[in-house]
Amino acid sequence: MEGLKEEIAAIAMRMGIDKVGFASKESLRDAPPSGDMGHILGSARSAVSLAVALDKTAIRAFLSKEDQQAHVEDHRQSYIRLRKAEEAIQKLLVDKGYQAVGHYPNFDYRKDQPFLTLAPFLSHRYVAVAAGIGWLGWSGNLITPEYGATVSLSSVVTSAELEPDALAEGDICENCRLCAATCPSHFISQKDGIIVNIAGRAYAHNKKAHNLRCLATCGGANGMGSPEAKWSTWSYKVLDLPAPEGGDEAFVQSVVEQSKDPANRLLRATLNAERVEMRGWEGFERFWNTVPLTCGSCMLICWPNMKDKQDNYNLLTTSGRVVKTDNGLKVIKG
Ligand code: SF4
Ligand code: SF4
Repeated sequence: MEGLKEEIAAIAMRMGIDKVGFASKESLRDAPPSGDMGHILGSARSAVSLAVALDKTAIRAFLSKEDQQAHVEDHRQSYIRLRKAEEAIQKLLVDKGYQAVGHYPNFDYRKDQPFLTLAPFLSHRYVAVAAGIGWLGWSGNLITPEYGATVSLSSVVTSAELEPDALAEGDICENCRLCAATCPSHFISQKDGIIVNIAGRAYAHNKKAHNLRCLATCGGANGMGSPEAKWSTWSYKVLDLPAPEGGDEAFVQSVVEQSKDPANRLLRATLNAERVEMRGWEGFERFWNTVPLTCGSCMLICWPNMKDKQDNYNLLTTSGRVVKTDNGLKVIKG
């Protein structure tokens, strides 16, 4: 199957994909449930992992609140590239007699789980780790040697038996915990960790709080760690998100209560996100284009070099907060 892998890699590179790797179903057998490719293709034997690097100039403008749109558009374009590459790889595999399914990267959750579990059908991060693209960092994001965590990911799952690539050597997570320090939703723990096993290797990452914390904040329904915070995301909204120590039940109850406030329309929509029936990439793109991208800080600050990470953190935490005025949104500092 080496010839087939080379053909797939050549297509991916031609279509602007920055990193491509291969994982087998077997190599993900010790991973958490969303590492199971069988959720999207019963006959799955392997997966192709695809990564597109995000533009660093646009990221810094986004973090410093000079420009939101350049990064939003770059992020959007990264998914368009992933979609086109997925479709071309899928066609190649199907033409050769295999089954193959590309899967969009976000906003689609398993309906067989309790409400608000927000469990994805497939974790592109786990597939990428098993395919040798990078490691899981403390944030839980995939981090690559070349681009840190600043990549968009996708996967094509197939019935073809493709030899898995070797795991990435070493580990570049520097345990700086700046990812946790930039998280306004208190989703990423500073000190509590868990072990995730993938392809026979153990990765220590933070013990995440309820998924809804990130979804509500990254989707723009909350922009601040606390009402007194000196910096925000690109959202001016302020929710009262109880501390993770209070438990998930109290947190969910509080969010549901706050969603009843007419000013929290976006939060109400977020609570319904799990019920949305995604219809392929078209549905994903429609959803993506309607949800304002306001955060992503945990991945955007995590570049391979420690000085860059610190500089990114400083840019974000001195960027001020977005407030709503009669004349529209405005950034205030201090
Ligand atoms: S920000 Fe620091 S601790 Fe977090 S994933 Fe990146 S390197 Fe690891
Ligand atoms: S995207 Fe934002 S809210 Fe979500 S985990 Fe990262 S920093 Fe926290």
